Amino acid sequence: MHEMSLAAGILRVVEEAAGRERFTRVERLQLEVGALAGVETRSLRFALEAMTPGTVLDGATIEIDEPAGTAWCLPCGTSVSITSRADPCPLCGGWQLAPTGGTELKVRELIVHDDPAALAACPGER
Ligand SMILES: [Zn+2]
Repeated sequence: MHEMSLAAGILRVVEEAAGRERFTRVERLQLEVGALAGVETRSLRFALEAMTPGTVLDGATIEIDEPAGTAWCLPCGTSVSITSRADPCPLCGGWQLAPTGGTELKVRELIVHDDPAALAACPGER
């Protein structure tokens, strides 16, 4: 399942950040999934929530922003906004569209829960 491996990738990114920046809990995870990224956000959220227990993301609020897609229409010679790759140009109804925006999936923000007790317990910190 596509979303399952994406969720695993996101979790890996967050855990790497946790190792680097020494935090143990994430308060809020904000993702950006473009309308043209080809990702089913509901499945992604479900996959993430299934994977987080026992990880740094355990209990974190997951927010998913879905910026609209934009594409360049060749016949119109202009940029138009579309909501899926299956959409035709809203101006001319044509299909000669090249997606230019809303194609990304990325971690936009990570709000970390400060846990001084966990830091103090970490060997090598003293
Ligand atoms: Zn057009």
